[in-house]
Amino acid sequence: MAFDCDLFVIGAGSGGVRAARVAAGHGAKVVVAEAFRVGGTCVIRGCVPKKLLVYASRFADDFAAAAGFGWTVEPPRFDWPTLVDAKNGEIARLSAAYRAGLDQAGAALIEERATVVDRHTLRLSGGRTISARHILVATGARPEPPARFPGLEFAITSNEIFDLPAFPRRLLVVGGGYIAVEFACLFAKLGAEVTQVMRADNVLRGFDEDMRAGLRDELGRAGVRLRFGALPTRFERRGEALLATLSDGGALTVDQALVATGRRPNTAGLGLEAAGVALDAAGAVAVDDRSTSNVASIHAVGDVTNRINLTPVAIREGQALADHLFGGGKGVVDHRDVASAVFATPEIGAVGLTEAEAQQCFEAVDVYLANFRPMKATLGGGAERTIMKLVVDAGSDRVVGVHILAREAAEMIQVAAIAIKMGATKADFDATMALHPTAAEELVTMKAPTRRHRRAAS
Ligand code: NDP
Repeated sequence: MAFDCDLFVIGAGSGGVRAARVAAGHGAKVVVAEAFRVGGTCVIRGCVPKKLLVYASRFADDFAAAAGFGWTVEPPRFDWPTLVDAKNGEIARLSAAYRAGLDQAGAALIEERATVVDRHTLRLSGGRTISARHILVATGARPEPPARFPGLEFAITSNEIFDLPAFPRRLLVVGGGYIAVEFACLFAKLGAEVTQVMRADNVLRGFDEDMRAGLRDELGRAGVRLRFGALPTRFERRGEALLATLSDGGALTVDQALVATGRRPNTAGLGLEAAGVALDAAGAVAVDDRSTSNVASIHAVGDVTNRINLTPVAIREGQALADHLFGGGKGVVDHRDVASAVFATPEIGAVGLTEAEAQQCFEAVDVYLANFRPMKATLGGGAERTIMKLVVDAGSDRVVGVHILAREAAEMIQVAAIAIKMGATKADFDATMALHPTAAEELVTMKAPTRRHRRAAS
């Protein structure tokens, strides 16, 4: 049977663009549909603009520390519209680069919304119908608060926060996950009064407990007012401001309320159910280890599959799928030991198992922990701490988890992840010469375990 194209990709984000380019490189005829902007969440309203805002926020600490190193700094002033403009320029540049990449690879871009009609057919919002041998759903996810309450429509999500016309002097952040923590921290450092509320008793469920406790303290030092076990029950307009009523009986008036209590895969209205594609309970496309759905011609990569919702994972999945479909590759992506980072200040970098997870997996676990004041603080001032942690399976001596709370934790954990992926032992870490003076040298100089866990014989 003849098709209009070999691969039709819905969504020009990280995963979709990579799959399209690689497939086209293998000689496939590729069409990509994008209804918003080329680049997807990561480039347009996620990782990239967020990191630029994080960089902006860190100047506050540098200005404060400068005097200790002999500098005289005029009282610094921050201008939000200047930052937003500069950020927009960089996002436009990257989006154009993604577009050019598709073009150079020979993939056709259609700037319309596409929906699935059946297992080989798509309809474009302009009315055209296109047939495809393979369909790739790479539509990502969107912010979606799980619970609705009166006045929720007055709140913003991470989609809107990047382009607020005015800097929110008083900001309420709802949630304790990646997005909530990163924005709470960066806006506090940019000078906002930030209150962060969450249902849990600490930030970042799922991260190692020492990291969670350390970052909670650092958020407090950054000026974030943390309220645990509290969520908003109502937002009311008060002129330009918002009155937030909280479940713990409190209330506060803010300029903006950012709700960051979760994201949902973008599958609604795509026509997937009609084509017989199975979705999971979260609305994600259920796929096998080759990113193929229960319908053999329909595939999905990235956040729409709700596996590990990180850009490099989506890229790797897109690459593997295209290699599999058109280049004879196996198509399987190894989702183990994926490093991740929370871009607060300081950052958390993590790879492998937490202390608690390791205790579930192994009979004997040794934990090495260093908690110290970073060298820069000796002259620069500030009470910020750095925490380094190794989790070791004492039976095999393998390092099964590395967790870092530090200014450059993300940079460090990327490198540590290579060692973890290779199965490095604690002895390998010990055999590695320290590089002095760095924070990372602690990773290879921790001698005695801080904690030893031994499972009781039953
Ligand atoms: P997270 O899963 O990290 O956090 C969701 C937050 O919402 C948690 O605090 C959670 O609380 C809370 N929550 C969930 N359900 C409810 C509910 N019914 N009522 C109240 N609170 C609720 O999601 P994010 O939206 O912050 O981020 C989405 C994903 O995007 C991340 O998992 C990550 O994969 C990716 N991401 C990665 C970044 C990075 O790599 N630096 C940055 C930003 C996003 P509780 O803890 O109690 O469950």
